[in-house]
Amino acid sequence: MINIVTPNNKGTYKQPDIFGYYGSFGGAYIPEMLHSNVEELKEKYLQIMYEESFQKEFQHLLHDYAGRPTPLFLAERLSKQFNTKIYLKREDLNHTGAHKINNAIGQVLLALRLGKKRIIAETGAGQHGVATATVCALKGLECIVYMGEVDMERQQPNVARMRMLGATVLPATSGSKTLKDATNEAIRDWINNPNDTHYVIGSVVGPHPYPDMVARFQSVISEEMKKQLKEKEGTELPDYVVACVGGGSNAAGAFYHFLDDPKVQLVAVEAAGCGINSGMSAATTQLGKPGVLHGSKSLVMQTPDGQVVEPHSISAGLDYPGIGPLHAHLYESGRAKFLSATDKESLDAAFNLTKMEGIIPALESAHALAALKQMKLKPTDVTILCLSGRGDKDLATYMKAMESNQ
Ligand SMILES: *Cc1c(COP(=O)(O)O)cnc(C)c1O
Repeated sequence: MINIVTPNNKGTYKQPDIFGYYGSFGGAYIPEMLHSNVEELKEKYLQIMYEESFQKEFQHLLHDYAGRPTPLFLAERLSKQFNTKIYLKREDLNHTGAHKINNAIGQVLLALRLGKKRIIAETGAGQHGVATATVCALKGLECIVYMGEVDMERQQPNVARMRMLGATVLPATSGSKTLKDATNEAIRDWINNPNDTHYVIGSVVGPHPYPDMVARFQSVISEEMKKQLKEKEGTELPDYVVACVGGGSNAAGAFYHFLDDPKVQLVAVEAAGCGINSGMSAATTQLGKPGVLHGSKSLVMQTPDGQVVEPHSISAGLDYPGIGPLHAHLYESGRAKFLSATDKESLDAAFNLTKMEGIIPALESAHALAALKQMKLKPTDVTILCLSGRGDKDLATYMKAMESNQ
């Protein structure tokens, strides 16, 4: 368990300064109408999160409901293939199929303690929406999920799941009718319902304190990694931790307890789409410039006059034109190395893992797998790769890839 740390005025990797900055990134850029909501959250989140009764219920649900701890699996055939030692942190084995449930449980419990009766969320591919709707069903809370109309069409099984779980799924019909429009709708809803509603953000993005709060909820990933590696290797510290980055929550969770150990090399993998310079990419650190997106200052893919550029990735969970402020800082300071993998490389890596280990990964996680090739790993190196989710949701894409390979 992490100790409560009081906000300081310097900021570290593990904790932003009192204004929510990691280096020059972060903060809370919000409309006046949201000020009291965000302020309330900022004042109370640490205190609530580290109350004994909260931790007891959070740990109980992580264990008995989500299925934690997730295994740390030595992937022997994959290791042999790369002539090194690779462990997979099996977030794919969580209830609802990915790491997102960790944060959804945390934020819904927090919302209850804030006295909120209504939960709203935005979702792109629907994974965060499903996780949030799941915990709302568990707790008997009203749940509204905003989703771009185009995404609703593309992700029908997740829309059906959310509805079966009792959530109301509302289409965002403006702009490109995708994630960023759904986010705008969710923000509008929160402005109109400031007293009884909590907005569950699904990654380490958004105004302070969301990035810090979500990183802390996800930090259970690296907390378990350390314990499990100690049992298996006699040391808590691997040489590398590798994770894919959309907004950055599974990476933040996988990196968290290693941030202050410079011996551990952190590798973040972004989606290069059709290639970094193809105009169809989501590699934010390579293409982005400092800017404000969804309530915080970070690196953002934008035109010279500041219009957000539509990203592209084969994986819906990485198809985001920004990156959380912690990751922008990790990139700028050099603490983490940022690599990228294309759609094609990630598909190949997904098929390879399936063949070598009998594990069908999510397309997002396949990006992290694809980066292994770029890493020049030594036989003595120990790597932990965060397998953020399972591939059931991506079966249609995998089937298409198999057809075109025949
Ligand atoms: C949503 C998702 C991601 C990307 O989100 P992060 O906040 O960057 O972790 C990665 N993997 C899976 C399986 C997802 O569902």
